[in-house]
Amino acid sequence: MTSRRQFIRRTSALGVGLLAFSRLSKAASPTFDGPVVLSTWNFGLQTNEAAWKILAEKGRAVDAAEAGARLAEDDLKSTSVGLAGRPDREGITTLDACIMDEFYNCGSVCFLEKIKHPISVARKVMETTPHVMLAGSGAQQFALENGFELDDYVNPESEKAWHEWLKTSEYKPIINFENHDTIGIVALDAHGNLGGACSTSGMAYKIRGRVGDSPIIGAGLYVDNEVGACTATGTGEEVIRIAGSHLVVEKMRDGMSPEDACRYAVERMIRIRPEQSKTLQVGFIAVNKSGEYGGYCIQPGFQYAVHTNEGNVLVDARSYY
Ligand code: ASP
Repeated sequence: MTSRRQFIRRTSALGVGLLAFSRLSKAASPTFDGPVVLSTWNFGLQTNEAAWKILAEKGRAVDAAEAGARLAEDDLKSTSVGLAGRPDREGITTLDACIMDEFYNCGSVCFLEKIKHPISVARKVMETTPHVMLAGSGAQQFALENGFELDDYVNPESEKAWHEWLKTSEYKPIINFENHDTIGIVALDAHGNLGGACSTSGMAYKIRGRVGDSPIIGAGLYVDNEVGACTATGTGEEVIRIAGSHLVVEKMRDGMSPEDACRYAVERMIRIRPEQSKTLQVGFIAVNKSGEYGGYCIQPGFQYAVHTNEGNVLVDARSYY
């Protein structure tokens, strides 16, 4: 079996993805090898750095995941996360986020406007209310009542792109970058506990009111401290249809490696909607209790970042096509 340590060395040295790893590591490694954090896309590298500061100090996985998501939400150039994200078809940016800790506590906000850190509002929902999910104006009111401030920032680049889009008004998610993408983070901390967070501005030019998978516990994120954690990115409707992140965690419970479990979920999406899946992207990343990790996606081009004691590297996820 290839250990996580050897694997990192290989991927950094050869610059290759998970090709060898998935074949070699069917079962979970029995040894826990220190903390690990995974984040979606290449902006996950910076996200991981923020999360690692907490993990390296033996902090909680959920704190690390929140810190990582906040960093991504702070990026006022990002067109797919936070206030800078591309708007809906009426020109308004709406935000979705959720968070889950090692005790099955979870919190979520969706269709939230003008709040810089939806992930921290989701955390507040988790920690101070009897609910899991708040939406729209209610979520915003809750945020304001809890010390968050209204923020009117509009990203000029996102606004310009929306004006361009209005010329055709054609809703067409682009595979990989450009008009969607989510920061999804899953972490295993030094105590062997799991946590995760997910934050996005969703699909650009969506119908007003549309909510994707990212704030839905079990779709965009799921953490089961007995087993593992998973998060998703890509066309949220497809992820919701199969309760994607929960499915991946359940397959890990059945003994699949994280990458095999992610592949299982992708293959189910393709089986139930073979035609539609040819033109869209979904990617999953997952980590198990032993610190094994993996990812899988529909189309080539999905990358995720992995930070362990060995360093922070970008990995090309294997894809179905
Ligand atoms: N999953 C997000 C959504 O559907 C977007 C993305 O990750 O690309 O809102």
